[in-house]
Amino acid sequence: NIIPPSKGELACSDEGVGRLKEPDEIFDYVNDYIQSSKEYKGIRFLVTAGPTREYIDPVRYITNRSSGKMGLSLANVIKRKGGTVSLVTGSIDCKDIHYDRIFNVETADEMLNLLKKEVKESDILIMAAAVADFKPKEISERKIKKGKSFLLELVENPDILKELSKEKDESQVFVGFAAESDDLIENAKKKIGEKNLDMIVLNDISRSDIGFDSNYNEVTLIYKNGRMKRVPKATKEKIAEEIISKAVEIYKSING
Ligand code: C5P
Repeated sequence: NIIPPSKGELACSDEGVGRLKEPDEIFDYVNDYIQSSKEYKGIRFLVTAGPTREYIDPVRYITNRSSGKMGLSLANVIKRKGGTVSLVTGSIDCKDIHYDRIFNVETADEMLNLLKKEVKESDILIMAAAVADFKPKEISERKIKKGKSFLLELVENPDILKELSKEKDESQVFVGFAAESDDLIENAKKKIGEKNLDMIVLNDISRSDIGFDSNYNEVTLIYKNGRMKRVPKATKEKIAEEIISKAVEIYKSING
């Protein structure tokens, strides 16, 4: 978008088209532009990003590989297009990030407890967080001394999406992610049913040029009815635009 110049007296003393617009005119242009691109105004999004941490002792934890970039790109796109974003992050660097509401959590249990409350105030949930599937059965209150080996017993974490889907309202849209390395489509489709999702975003994690830590991704969107759309390699911001646009389309089709 380019703001055209005004007509009038120019710096070279000529008259014509080429004058810088007055500040209040520039303000009006920018304001109009921003307002016209607020296509998600009134839609409340809940986005999760980044990995959870499951503590072994006060200084050690197990976690998942995740930079949180995909989730942050989703939140950016929503914000830019006028939607309301509540962002729930696992352990990622979020300084300099400003959304309507931002919550930092560490463990999967903390994330579940927070989301149980937040999801009631949301229209579209996008679960991009890399939730650790397992946690240590016991957390040692003191730092475990080195010097001898020990066995670490893990128990399953709650499946957050499964838990939240028990109370899912018919008007809500839930979007999950599936990071798969084999039987990609079959596994992703299974998750749609198990987690009661409207759409799943499938990532092929066997490729090193996209996904983890990268600014690029390439995904396949799979819908509840089994239909699929491949989104070719692009920046995570572009991929986020596709994901959000489809989620909003589903939301509007449900809610008329
Ligand atoms: O780990 P999995 O492949 O099952 O992840 C698929 C989706 O489920 C992701 O959207 C992830 O955020 C979510 N998930 C969850 N609770 C877990 C594990 C994953 O909600 N314990």
